[in-house]
Amino acid sequence: MTINVDAAGMRRINLSTVLSVIRGKRTTSRIDISQITGLNKATVSYLVDELIQEQLVQEIGYGSSSGGRKPVLLKFNANAAYAIGVDIQITHMTTVVSNTRGEVVYRQTKQLAAHEQAALYQEKLVEMILVEVAAAMKATPPSPHGLAGIGVALPGIVNFAVGTVYYLPNINVANWDLQSVLSQHFKVPVFIDNDANCGAWCEFQHRNLRVQNLVHINAGVGIGVGVIVNGQLYRGKDGLAGEFGHMTIAAIGLECSCGNYGCWEEYASERSLLRYIRESGGKKPQAASGWSVVEQILYEAQHDNRAYIRAFHTLGEYLGVGIANILNGLNPEQVTIGGMLSRAATFILPEIERVLQHRAILLNKSTPLMIANANAVAIGAAELVIDQTLFSYPKQGNAIDT
Ligand SMILES: [Zn+2]
Repeated sequence: MTINVDAAGMRRINLSTVLSVIRGKRTTSRIDISQITGLNKATVSYLVDELIQEQLVQEIGYGSSSGGRKPVLLKFNANAAYAIGVDIQITHMTTVVSNTRGEVVYRQTKQLAAHEQAALYQEKLVEMILVEVAAAMKATPPSPHGLAGIGVALPGIVNFAVGTVYYLPNINVANWDLQSVLSQHFKVPVFIDNDANCGAWCEFQHRNLRVQNLVHINAGVGIGVGVIVNGQLYRGKDGLAGEFGHMTIAAIGLECSCGNYGCWEEYASERSLLRYIRESGGKKPQAASGWSVVEQILYEAQHDNRAYIRAFHTLGEYLGVGIANILNGLNPEQVTIGGMLSRAATFILPEIERVLQHRAILLNKSTPLMIANANAVAIGAAELVIDQTLFSYPKQGNAIDT
């Protein structure tokens, strides 16, 4: 395959390659980078100097040597820039400010009021995003590259490339150009994406899992799935990939908010948990201030409320059915589970693992499962901003000597 790249393009590719080597290691040196990338030492030195000037890389003293001059150690400057990430769920929204390594320096969670009409919901949501982002901006520390932008994650079908919300199934919002609406209010770039994609990206980038293929399940009011294939988010032709929440697991099943029947999220989401409580004769949980319904159910289950424990077990079983389907289809190296329902890990994880032993095939039975970072979606939304701005160099496999 022949690729036509001009000198400036080559410089950018090489800069990206060198920066990603430095970013991926605690410390490194010019000679190590030369060996890893195959670039000659003079080219590496020139590129590293440029990255030091841009304050993306720092020199932090000398390393050890088995003979000859001690190498100068290089470290990625994690605080070179910050980004704001907003995780919007049906019942609440979380806003974080994080640095380029996903380290959170500010976090705020606010409850969201329910609005019957989609138009009212959209208006109130935009108002709230503006208020919360303004507070996050005030809390953003000064840095060489400043605030890189704002990432907003939503629980629905979102096209990242064009910044449009196609459909939020649980609140019936459709064809909403949220990126344009928000961009009018901010001087920095705004990106929007699906919540599970953001969660997957956070887990992939910041958990040090050393895997290239990962599936992230975001289980809450609905279920979203983010898929990392060969180190990249898999978005599909129209950017809509990962809607496993709406895969059919019962051919003649319950009607879903998407209009179909028997979707996975009708059996493994928060509303199904409430149904299982009802079906096993449990009392409907009462709303308490500052606590979500799932947190209340979890508290009671931990205090031996048998109906609630049974409901969590049934939920775990159905989560297992869907996860087995995904494992059998994608064969990932790692599954991470996030969203509000992941807080009930002690009740649901053993059930998921039990079901996988029956329904996953071959080596998929032993795919490791892990509970995600509690703020994975918000951090991932911020991380996408960092990747789209600060690290938006062309991605390619091999460095090119100039
Ligand atoms: Zn559905």
